[in-house]
Amino acid sequence: MAFKKVLIANRGEIACRIAAVLRQRGIGSVAVYSEADANAPHVRAADEAYCVGPAPVAQSYLNRDLILEIAQRTGAEAVHPGYGLLSENTAFARACTVAGLVFIGPTPEAIEAMGDKAQARATAKAAGCPVVPGSDGPVHDDEEAARIAESLGYPVLVKAAGGGGGIGMAVVDRPERLARALTSCRDRGRSSFGNPTVYLEKYIERPRHIEVQVLFDHHGHGVHLFERECSVQRRHQKVIEEAPSPFVSTRPELRQGLTDAALRAASSIGYRNAGTVEFVVGQDGEYYFIEMNTRLQVEHPVTEAITGVDIIGWQLDIAAGAPLTIRQEDLTIRGAAIECRIYAEDPEKSFMPKPGHIGAFVPPVLEGIRVDTGVGPDFDVTPYYDPMIAKLIASGPDRATATSRARAALDAFVIDGLTTNRTFLREVLGTETFAAAAYDTSWLERYVKETGR
Ligand code: ADP
Ligand code: ADP
Ligand code: MG
Repeated sequence: MAFKKVLIANRGEIACRIAAVLRQRGIGSVAVYSEADANAPHVRAADEAYCVGPAPVAQSYLNRDLILEIAQRTGAEAVHPGYGLLSENTAFARACTVAGLVFIGPTPEAIEAMGDKAQARATAKAAGCPVVPGSDGPVHDDEEAARIAESLGYPVLVKAAGGGGGIGMAVVDRPERLARALTSCRDRGRSSFGNPTVYLEKYIERPRHIEVQVLFDHHGHGVHLFERECSVQRRHQKVIEEAPSPFVSTRPELRQGLTDAALRAASSIGYRNAGTVEFVVGQDGEYYFIEMNTRLQVEHPVTEAITGVDIIGWQLDIAAGAPLTIRQEDLTIRGAAIECRIYAEDPEKSFMPKPGHIGAFVPPVLEGIRVDTGVGPDFDVTPYYDPMIAKLIASGPDRATATSRARAALDAFVIDGLTTNRTFLREVLGTETFAAAAYDTSWLERYVKETGR
């Protein structure tokens, strides 16, 4: 029943991680790589590897036809898309099926239902999941947007319907600024996602970002793996994530509400495989659906750490048709875990990506530390891809232990020759605000300003 060979349609740490899971299970692996990645660790991590074109993703990692041709030629039975790239691409998921390959993820219909974020709001609402007050679907023109914004009350958030990775989003605090935000989000949506559609949401002040991991098999059984909190963000993008959420841990009824809502939203679209339902949660504990990511998420390791569930392993088993044998009542939260995203970027210069050459690279080997990385010593970090070079996951019996382990490990991590946010992360973990988990999604940016960067 299990697959014998799987193609990994991704790069970096996630391709390495998937290759490791495949190796552990005795499943053959096929990697693809761009010309810029010929020496990348993910190429060596797999049994076989094939070049799919020049550095830009549009000419390599997004070359659907060539990737599928390689899968067929090498006798792979399934394709794991990782996150980003082709992971939420309905046409690719469909093309896999047409080519006789299993797409390791949800059905194309489920990806489609949640892919348009304006439409996803309606879907979630219909499933009885509270959504942020906002427009019913896309806004068509500036007058309509102004009317809706007025009725919601400022500040509002303009969002690209096709958005992801914090791109195509703008907070508007007064009417005069709405038109410009609409134009810029339409432009970003068009250039980054090929979709100029935008919609409006009420901007929830100082919220927390809390999300629920779900897993569903093909036999109608699904579970949630509790929540993660990802409120430490810059530019609407996560930098430090943790499980469980310290905010939710003291509010059992909130955990019940969030996890029920996530399962309802997923069930309502016949969801299969791993997925994440994201919420913003107000300081008053009110929670609102913002989107569903129909794929594996960057921060899934913190959930693996506190539940002991191998999420990628289950993705493979579920895609191969196996029943999910985990029962909800058997799942418990053990301890706490914190993930730090290590980026090739300069915290002193607005977190600008900073490509460069890595000299020595020595991940820490310490108790309670897991490092997922896609780079190594003597390696070039190029400007073509996401600047995240490693994830450091610290776990322990409680949050304070996980925090001090993460700080020690960041200290011990040797990354020579490259500017990274490593010491910045260590500093952030050492603040009183982090220790008290008294943060919200705009705290990190306020902290950066206050510390004079
Ligand atoms: P997650 O949602 O898993 O927490 P991110 O939002 O940082 O993580 O996105 C994960 C990766 O996918 C990043 O490399 C990001 O650049 C990329 N990404 C996210 N959404 C999209 C999208 N819609 N299109 C292309 N890339 C995306
Ligand atoms: P993406 O698809 O880029 O991940 P999301 O819709 O998930 O975009 O939002 C990204 C981040 O923006 C959230 O984690 C949160 O910090 C912030 N955000 C999103 N919607 C709202 C909202 N209505 N009010 C306040 N903050 C929001
Ligand atoms: Mg999101």
